[in-house]
Amino acid sequence: QTPSKPPPLPSPLRFSKFFQSNMRILVTGGAGFIGSHLVDKLMENEKNEVIVVDNYFTGSKDNLRKWIGHPRFELIRHDVTEPLLVEVDQIYHLACPASPIFYKHNPVKTIKTNVIGTLNMLGLAKRVGARILLTSTSEVYGDPLIHPQPETYWGNVNPIGVRSCYDEGKRVAETLMFDYHRQHGIEIRIARIFNTYGPRMNIDDGRVVSNFIAQALRGEPLTVQKPGTQTRSFCFVSDMVDGLIRLMEGENTGPINIGNPGEFTMLELAETVKELINPKVEIKMVENTPDDPRQRKPDITKAKELLGWGPKMKLRDGLPLMEEDFRLRLGVSKEK
Ligand code: NAD
Ligand code: UDP
Ligand code: UDP
Repeated sequence: QTPSKPPPLPSPLRFSKFFQSNMRILVTGGAGFIGSHLVDKLMENEKNEVIVVDNYFTGSKDNLRKWIGHPRFELIRHDVTEPLLVEVDQIYHLACPASPIFYKHNPVKTIKTNVIGTLNMLGLAKRVGARILLTSTSEVYGDPLIHPQPETYWGNVNPIGVRSCYDEGKRVAETLMFDYHRQHGIEIRIARIFNTYGPRMNIDDGRVVSNFIAQALRGEPLTVQKPGTQTRSFCFVSDMVDGLIRLMEGENTGPINIGNPGEFTMLELAETVKELINPKVEIKMVENTPDDPRQRKPDITKAKELLGWGPKMKLRDGLPLMEEDFRLRLGVSKEK
């Protein structure tokens, strides 16, 4: 009689079920803007243990200050392009610079992070039977020819442009996710994140909302890149984190758009920041960078139907919360 193999451990959530312990969650890129807010939310649940891995390229320990030393929290300096051995139940894979000035700074590294980094996290998910969520991006739609963008749209992306390291990197990351799902049965989730803003954004990362708020507080002109009629849709970070957790906990692989469908031209955004924060600053038109998408707005029908999710925070309510954080960090107090 051949000895029978032990039954497979229940998968996913293998470790927590087997050891009757807490849910162990890995957040890559957890020292960054969205990642650190996600960690705050996950740590609220006393059944969660959170492990962050980050190479601090654009993130900072400061964002996780309140959790350092906490018994349910661990912070590891690690680059996801190198293999990682940890035992976890869930992986939120965020590690990747998100701002154009940072991802264009070392484009080859950006591609490696997206491709090799995602491959490593999928290899890890396969070994331990964890569920893995990738934070993809609306940039997979490129300069979209369909508006607003549903998940079924395949996009209009330049494969050899200066943004391609990011756009095409995320497209390959999505492909890898689906291939590991089909080939190895890995439980995957893909979020296509649209522009997100809120406290803890890098002050000088060149993204439009952080630029305008910092400029308004420093009394500098708001730099609207030409033509100024290009549009974006801005989601407040707490809404984003809520959407990511719902996606992870739900039954759908995605890809699912998570973003706020409120659409603004960059000129409108500048006018709003000027009105709310500093009516004295001027608005200055400046040159744009190549391949800037002309319009972007999520179709969030799927998120509403499948996750019961929709954004709650309006731009006019979110901007002052970010202003407050930027004032503290820039040391600019409010005039009475
Ligand atoms: P962020 O730059 O603040 O955070 C990214 C984090 O990843 C940083 O802490 C950085 O140090 C870390 N990191 C980068 N490369 C790494 C590597 N090789 N190994 C380990 N850590 C690494 O950006 P964010 O806005 O918080 O974005 C988080 C995720 O969401 C990214 O995957 C990004 O592509 C995606 N996303 C963000 C937006 C947005 O508007 N913020 C939009 C679409 C998609
Ligand atoms: N990997 C990792 N941690 C693990 C398991 C795998 O970082 O716990 C990496 C591994 O180094 C490899 C990648 O994930 O580069 C893909 O692993 P997989 O087992 O799918 O492929 P293989 O090692 O067979 O190429
Ligand atoms: N932009 C701008 N002024 C700035 C920075 C950006 O007008 O100081 C514009 C940029 O041309 C783009 C939009 O704002 O059309 C959003 O740029 P961002 O870099 O924030 O994010 P993207 O959506 O391009 O990744």
